[in-house]
Amino acid sequence: MNILVIGSGGREHALVWKLAKSEKVEKMYCAPGNAGIAGLAECVPIAATDIAALAAFAKEKKIDLTVVGPESSLVAGIVDLFEAEGLAIFGPNRQAAQLEGSKVFAKKFLAKYGIPSAAFEVFTEAESAREYVRKNPRPLVVKADGLAAGKGVFVCAGQGEALAAIDQIMVEKAFGAAGNEIIIEECLSGEEASFLAFTDGETVLPLPSSQDHKAIYDGDRGPNTGGMGAYSPAPVVSEELTKKIMDSVMLPTVRGLRQEGIVYRGVLYAGLMINGNDIQVLEFNCRFGDPETQPLLMRLRGDLAEIMLATRAGRLKDARLDIDPRPAVCVVMSEEGYPGHYESGRKIKGLKRAAKMPGVVVFHAGTKQADDGIVTAGGRVLGVTARGKTLPEAIDAAYGAARAIRWPGAYYRRDIGAKALRRLVAGLPPKVLVIMGSDSDLPVMRAAADFCKTMAVPCAMTVASAHRTPKQAAKLAKDAARQGIKVIIAGAGMAAHLAGVIAAHTDLPVIGVPLDASSLHGLDALLSTVQMPPGVPVATMGIGKAGAKNAAVFACRMLALSEPGLAARLAAYRDDMAREVAEKAARLAASLDE
Ligand code: AMP
Repeated sequence: MNILVIGSGGREHALVWKLAKSEKVEKMYCAPGNAGIAGLAECVPIAATDIAALAAFAKEKKIDLTVVGPESSLVAGIVDLFEAEGLAIFGPNRQAAQLEGSKVFAKKFLAKYGIPSAAFEVFTEAESAREYVRKNPRPLVVKADGLAAGKGVFVCAGQGEALAAIDQIMVEKAFGAAGNEIIIEECLSGEEASFLAFTDGETVLPLPSSQDHKAIYDGDRGPNTGGMGAYSPAPVVSEELTKKIMDSVMLPTVRGLRQEGIVYRGVLYAGLMINGNDIQVLEFNCRFGDPETQPLLMRLRGDLAEIMLATRAGRLKDARLDIDPRPAVCVVMSEEGYPGHYESGRKIKGLKRAAKMPGVVVFHAGTKQADDGIVTAGGRVLGVTARGKTLPEAIDAAYGAARAIRWPGAYYRRDIGAKALRRLVAGLPPKVLVIMGSDSDLPVMRAAADFCKTMAVPCAMTVASAHRTPKQAAKLAKDAARQGIKVIIAGAGMAAHLAGVIAAHTDLPVIGVPLDASSLHGLDALLSTVQMPPGVPVATMGIGKAGAKNAAVFACRMLALSEPGLAARLAAYRDDMAREVAEKAARLAASLDE
């Protein structure tokens, strides 16, 4: 088979990479492609929206199947044109693509078929929209109707923001005709997840769950981007929820469309807000997501070309998806400044080294071949993707590879997958063991466990006394390494020798936290912890809560020496601290000016 993939991003590189593995595929083309895709397919300089030129090319090269990446081609009607010309193409037609191309169409459709989604109103005039906002003083979301490259949605905490969004879309026409109509909807809270499925208009064959990271900065702060990273599976989507999503969203959507006379063939992507057991549709996309496709296709085992042909032919009833149970994570590396202004043309180093790392595939997005190597050529530059036995391993592998790739101005989020890790961490075997001399030490020592939790490091807490339960304390220390513990934190008050006793029974690093529990206010504990005989070291922190937290920071830093994902989260934590201090300084300066 000859295959043509349309688009030039990380998603399209992943599609080309996966399709190239198919035994059915002989020759691959990509329009327009990028430097990474060029290693697997012949890139042709035709824009994704020049659908007439694409159809002519497909005819000339006798393309057996065209696979559409971006929504712009679908909404422009590429599928209708190709089908009219007798060319095989994977993706929904223009009518079906309205589900993404018009938010008004999508919301009205959802309401008509009782598919859960935020309450909404449609406005065609700015003044009536403003009036609605004035009468509804609560968080609202303002959305331009048409395609706006992910920038037409404004989540507004207050009325001022909502009024400004209306002006931007309807008066300033920031998105042109895409803003002739707007939606104002209720602001939902919860955790977002992406749910993609192949459908032939009858059968819905779900891919595993995934989660995107839209905001540019760590902790979901800053403006929205095309997507800064993704992972699959998303633990927020339990098996029970998967069934609920299929029964209350995916199947009713495909059936509802059929009732509207629309046969949807291709990938249907539901962006969902999940709050406990409650699911609401935020949006539909009518194509693969970018960057969710990168981890999803790394987990898909079978022949993608075969699945696409079955989707087109309405044969999905008999098809199965074979999914690798191992999680996969994609860290997007972008140009500094993106999604605003950014530089291009900078030489990328370390690509070969990263690509050789086990389980890693570096998908290209904005890259170009220059005379002396591959250079940046877009906001999102690479999607460094890795599979691992567990999610923490996949995260470490992706960050280990991202760290190996460099160019001046390279940026990436350091918390991709952290939300999922935090959900999973309670079930993982502990790496840090916090031992306290007494349960009365818990309020202070909890600071250590809390920090580990923030960093998604599995941690256990227990009570043992060097003097009152010496055998138990010794046993804890002796067994710890075998149980997978990497660092022990021991906190005790009075002239307690807990940390020292623990250190005497293990080769693991031990961190002592002196606690204020006597009339000597912790100095007794400090002196007994810090002054260890040579050869039996205890790293001693300050007295009390700050010491307990620092013990955990120190333990995490030790673990981070061999865990690149954790190293990235610690770097983000350091930046957070710096930002908080800067904010405090700014507030102080402002209050002094008043
Ligand atoms: P959309 O293109 O409609 O998915 O919107 C883009 C992003 O805006 C979503 O991924 C959410 O983060 C946010 N968003 C959209 N609608 C809502 C809503 N009703 N409540 C809260 N956040 C929303």
